[in-house]
Amino acid sequence: MNDIDVLISEVGPRDGLQNVARRMATPAKLAWIDALHAAGLREIELASFVPARLLPQMADAAELVSHACTLPGLTAMALVPNLRGAEAALAAGAHKLTVPVSASPAHSLANVRKSPAQMVDELRSIAALRRERAPQTRLEVGLSTAFGCSLQGAVPEDEVLVLAEALAEAGADEVGLSDTTGMANPAQVRRLFTRLRAALGERAGAAHMHNTRGLGLANCLAAFEAGVRSFDASQGGLGGCPFAPGASGNVATEDLIFMFEAMGQRTGVDLEALQAARAALQAGLPGEPLYGMLPAAGLPRDFVYANGRRPAVAAGAAHG
Ligand code: ZN
Repeated sequence: MNDIDVLISEVGPRDGLQNVARRMATPAKLAWIDALHAAGLREIELASFVPARLLPQMADAAELVSHACTLPGLTAMALVPNLRGAEAALAAGAHKLTVPVSASPAHSLANVRKSPAQMVDELRSIAALRRERAPQTRLEVGLSTAFGCSLQGAVPEDEVLVLAEALAEAGADEVGLSDTTGMANPAQVRRLFTRLRAALGERAGAAHMHNTRGLGLANCLAAFEAGVRSFDASQGGLGGCPFAPGASGNVATEDLIFMFEAMGQRTGVDLEALQAARAALQAGLPGEPLYGMLPAAGLPRDFVYANGRRPAVAAGAAHG
């Protein structure tokens, strides 16, 4: 991270597409992933290793990971909900595994039919497999529903912290916090990430914020101010929540990068090249709604990247 200040992890190919009803064809996904990499993204969550009958959208997971491993400087990340998924992802050559663990017992049972404590055991098994088969592979946990759960409501912060510590002890290199249902607010984000970092130190992981209720960027900023330097985002806010019509899913990569670059924080990503990646995404999913304020407004006329570079084409798309 010598030449960047914040790491943006693009989760669109997994988190975004998982919430899109239509299947994106594999060649279109590959073209999109290539374009994201060309824009400067260094970490991409490519797919979820689950049985294809459960999630047909993810049937090409191994092919995407193998391809991504050929792209220089890219961390090829895969979501694995269990040991079997981890075996498949390691066999495909994934550089980093991310395991979703729900902080809310109700969400955990509904999602993976396991309690949070059982997921700690699963994580321990995955960590043992990783040590044996591919010790250089990173192992991350995203603690979903860490800021609230649409099934059980509030999630006690003390429970989130206890679970995070148990997961780090079980072998996770990093434990991050996810606002899966778009319920977080900036005061809560600042408080919980401050506690997480105090408890886990270097093992405190990424902020995964959704923009369901418009607080995605504010929550990312709050996490940044609490010391977080790794953020998940999806291009075009892909993966709008089916229960919140008109709302985007994850915070839009374009907007998040614009915010950090405008603040003087280097992301390593070129916003104009990112626009080309957005075109590749749209070409693969014609008519799918894509979100993001920056793509609609364009860069401000005097915009300068955090590293001092000026955009090749200085122009704002919007008028008035
Ligand atoms: Zn998400």
